[in-house]
Amino acid sequence: MSRKISNSDKSWVQVSNDSDFPIQNLPFGVFKKGVNDLPHVGVAIGDKVLDLHALYSFGYLNDLPFGKSDFQNAYLNDMMSHGKKACSELRLRIYDLLHEANTELSSSSEHANHALYNQSDVIMMLPIKVGDYTDFYSSRDHATNVGTMFRDPDNALLPNWLHIPVGYHGRASSIVISGEPVIRPKGQQKPNKDEPPVFGPCKLLDFELEMAFVTFEGKPLGESITTKEADDYIFGMCLFNDWSARDIQTWEYVPLGPFLAKNFASSISPWIVTLDALEQFRLEGPKQEPKVFPYLEYEGNKHIDIKLEVSLTPDGGSENTICKSNYKHMYWNMNQQLAHHTINGCNIKCGDMMASGTISGPTPESYGSMLELSWRGTKPLQLNDGTERKFIQDGDTITMKGYCQNDEIRIGFGEVSSKILPAN
Ligand code: MN
Repeated sequence: MSRKISNSDKSWVQVSNDSDFPIQNLPFGVFKKGVNDLPHVGVAIGDKVLDLHALYSFGYLNDLPFGKSDFQNAYLNDMMSHGKKACSELRLRIYDLLHEANTELSSSSEHANHALYNQSDVIMMLPIKVGDYTDFYSSRDHATNVGTMFRDPDNALLPNWLHIPVGYHGRASSIVISGEPVIRPKGQQKPNKDEPPVFGPCKLLDFELEMAFVTFEGKPLGESITTKEADDYIFGMCLFNDWSARDIQTWEYVPLGPFLAKNFASSISPWIVTLDALEQFRLEGPKQEPKVFPYLEYEGNKHIDIKLEVSLTPDGGSENTICKSNYKHMYWNMNQQLAHHTINGCNIKCGDMMASGTISGPTPESYGSMLELSWRGTKPLQLNDGTERKFIQDGDTITMKGYCQNDEIRIGFGEVSSKILPAN
């Protein structure tokens, strides 16, 4: 029997008020106890990880359609292959086991000790074996800022932008987990209009503040997912730093779009927060004018209020908050993105990852990239150590955090934090 989730419920596991991971969240990830241990699927609760392989072995997950290999696994994909309904039931069963009124697990100190670990003692792994990665471009403020800087302030949005959730196919192989350093890419650049291109380390290295969603198995090739059906195909979301080499991008992107400027790395946070946990933070999106095609129309509140922030920490220095944005600023929502992605019959697979595009808000402090924050280098950011930044330097660490918060509860994503190393 699973319990109905309530914001006033508490777990018998201690959770501090400012934790991203109260019992109402229960995001999924993959962890190892030690370098030589096998990876297990885990759920975050407060500052602990609940080991689902241990729960399964002790018999606590017997009435669910999962097997041992779903939880002793390097990725969440096998667990997710059971579909939305099974994964939602699994989360509700875990909710029940962790609820303060439930003594099944809490009364067995032997089982509890073998199923709960400190997050600080485990190694978090890349949670998803990403088959295909798609990056959208769905923030109107971001697209307007980029269009204003690079093209024409009076016609900043390209003619297709208000009709199409514009996107491109990225590269899955270079998606890495938070904490893994990122090496500055090398490539061709053309810094001077009247001179030939040059080759060398990227000089205009940037982050892009994004959120990504992870999909369940979609429909067969040739079929489409509607905006109404889209929620059933989305497992959850994570923070996504879509590293970008602006100088390489400017020279290479015509006519086929981003390539080596984008595919050297994208970093994600380790916990996948389920769509179920985010439902109470849904809100209305912007009015879309001109009217969109029927296949992009949607009903209900499909945007989500997720507070986002980015900080830059110089090597050996202290943290500077450089951006505060919100996922609610998206023009196109996930339902529209998925409907658009499949309207031509393109199939999506279990473990595909789709990123939002840079999430910029309407005010300068809410811009989601260095390109916009420093306005193409014309307004350098002043850091608290007295230095300034137009773009990211070697040794800088970029950290993104995200959380939903109302009067009753906070549902957070943790963080994605990565240091930039010099080019090889
Ligand atoms: Mn991007």
